Amino acid sequence: MSRPFFIDTHCHLDDEAFAADREEVLARAQAAGVAVCIVPAVSLENLPAVVALAERHPGIYAAVGIHPHAAATCTPEGLRRLRAWARHPRVVAIGEIGLDFYRDLSPREAQRAAFRAQLELAGELGLPVILHQRAAASALLEELERWVAARPPARGVLHAFSGDLGMARTAVAWGFALGIGGPLTYRSAEGLREVVRAVGLPALVLETDAPYLPPHPHRGRRNEPAYLPRIAEALALLLQVPTDEVARQTTENARRLFRLPDR
Ligand code: ZN
Repeated sequence: MSRPFFIDTHCHLDDEAFAADREEVLARAQAAGVAVCIVPAVSLENLPAVVALAERHPGIYAAVGIHPHAAATCTPEGLRRLRAWARHPRVVAIGEIGLDFYRDLSPREAQRAAFRAQLELAGELGLPVILHQRAAASALLEELERWVAARPPARGVLHAFSGDLGMARTAVAWGFALGIGGPLTYRSAEGLREVVRAVGLPALVLETDAPYLPPHPHRGRRNEPAYLPRIAEALALLLQVPTDEVARQTTENARRLFRLPDR
């Protein structure tokens, strides 16, 4: 048996935080068994850099999308550019997209319109979606319900899942996966652990959200994909299964969700 490997389904490797040592970060990820990283764009500005990273590295795939913070750029022209980029062979998803009523950096109606348009695009192109949600759980579910009804089967991941058990069950029943990252290791995350125990491994994918949300004991520092096994270990402990089984199943889930080629 080859050693288990992990897929980091959400990390911002294009971020400035990695400007000085990106190659070392990638080498450490490989050494830690994190063989594949999915890097989501957040705007039309960073999108070319994200796709370029995926072109240079066989273990990196890109997602293209406009984050709710940049919703104003989701104009007909913005969508046209997004559609063109989405056909790139290294692009495996539309994301990250969604609703953020916590920071409210864009008007809520503009966020919803941008979100709806990008869900439509994902449906049209047959791509899964990577979803961001903060303080907007019920609005997000409303939009998803409409999308799911129009285009089954829906595919996607609720990245950095932070909702309650009801939301988790609804999303999983609709075919979505939950993205589990560093917060699982935080003392305060009892609600998230309850969700994870209830839905179980078949509905989960792993993510670091690097450079954000580092797992214990790396809190307060820059996060990086090499820390993904800490999250898998926390999950293994919680679900009382071997870490290898967590790696195997979450890798399989991510591979199916993003239709990644077999290695
Ligand atoms: Zn993100």
